[in-house]
Amino acid sequence: MKILIANLGSTSFKYRLFDMDDSNAAQLASGGYERVTDYTNCIEDMLETLVGEGHLQSGEEIDAVGFKTVLGKDLSGCVTADARVLEALEGFKEVAPAHNPAYATGIRCFAEKLPTVPRVALFETAFYQWMTPAAYNYAIPQAWRDLGIRRYGFHGASHKFVAERSAEMLGNEVVAERVRQLYVDGPGEYEGAPLRVLSCHLGGSSSVTGIQNGVAIGASMGFSPQGGLPQNNRVGDLDSMAIPYVCKMLGISVEEAERQLNKESGLLGLSGVSNDARDICEAIEAGNENAQLAIDVLIDSIRHWAGSFFFKMGGAEAIVFTAGIGENDADLRASVCAGLEDLGVQIDPLANAKAIRGAEGIISSPDSKIKVLVIPANEELVIAREVFRKVKAS
Ligand code: ADP
Repeated sequence: MKILIANLGSTSFKYRLFDMDDSNAAQLASGGYERVTDYTNCIEDMLETLVGEGHLQSGEEIDAVGFKTVLGKDLSGCVTADARVLEALEGFKEVAPAHNPAYATGIRCFAEKLPTVPRVALFETAFYQWMTPAAYNYAIPQAWRDLGIRRYGFHGASHKFVAERSAEMLGNEVVAERVRQLYVDGPGEYEGAPLRVLSCHLGGSSSVTGIQNGVAIGASMGFSPQGGLPQNNRVGDLDSMAIPYVCKMLGISVEEAERQLNKESGLLGLSGVSNDARDICEAIEAGNENAQLAIDVLIDSIRHWAGSFFFKMGGAEAIVFTAGIGENDADLRASVCAGLEDLGVQIDPLANAKAIRGAEGIISSPDSKIKVLVIPANEELVIAREVFRKVKAS
């Protein structure tokens, strides 16, 4: 089955073409465009390229197009990208302004160019569909809750991949299969051995998720991807009273406060150096105290959220690190896991230092009760797998 994954930014269009079957996913081609003003031109150019390179006879040979949609109003899951999806994206365009309009336009363009090819949307919130009301509700008035203000959770594709892959690595095939079928069959009842995972996606944007027997029980990200851990330029958790106070004291508008919290906060705001952890680590080497503070706040926040899920799940069998920072920064991984020996976490310093990006690794010592894993993120592949499962099941 040939599955095309379209990754749409407000001014970019990236794609990957996979050839999938039940056990394998081969990437046939990838490409992208920057400074995009018209997705239709990109789609035409992409199809010409894919046909020219011999990957396809024509666009109609594609079995499905998958979209990593972010946030839909009253809609989540892995679903046919139809009018309902467009309406859901429109309903929350203010909350995800960089993503929702781009995906709505992209889905429409594909519908026009390749009307016979099925389109599937995998919402980043999908993995959190089974959180309990206690986990997803904020303590706000009913009228606010009626607007859909609640915790949704994001990075769902990445955390679901971690759920599946960690189960495979730890030999729990029952959980792995449960995760594979999650968006097709739902979670159902679970009676196997427990597998509680603290999944840390640490990259340009970061989140921690508690995964119990393959199902997410909570998320650090909230109503928008703005919540939870400090991100590259974004604030993460902030007491809501800070916004009206700052608007009054600095004489700025809510829109300006929102811009500063989105663009000038997070690791950039704290360090004053960069939004990139590599630059911040260099500045730490040079003795920059604010750079050190930025990383310390990030580590503290990861421990805060991981600790919360550890408590809620009554323990953990594994801690997983994924994405740019999680896969590359051995010092940060060691700091996150420091002092947890009494809980059963024992890092193997050599294995930790040796774990490199793009390679899976177990970085805990053999007798560590809680295993610590590094699992490379590959979001396009995750989406391709979900789209494949969805199309095959329909
Ligand atoms: P994104 O989250 O932006 O899609 P990534 O998951 O690749 O992409 O994460 C990017 C982040 O990974 C960068 O902002 C950078 O801070 C971090 N990163 C990459 N390499 C390293 C490294 N060697 N050490 C620390 N951080 C790194």
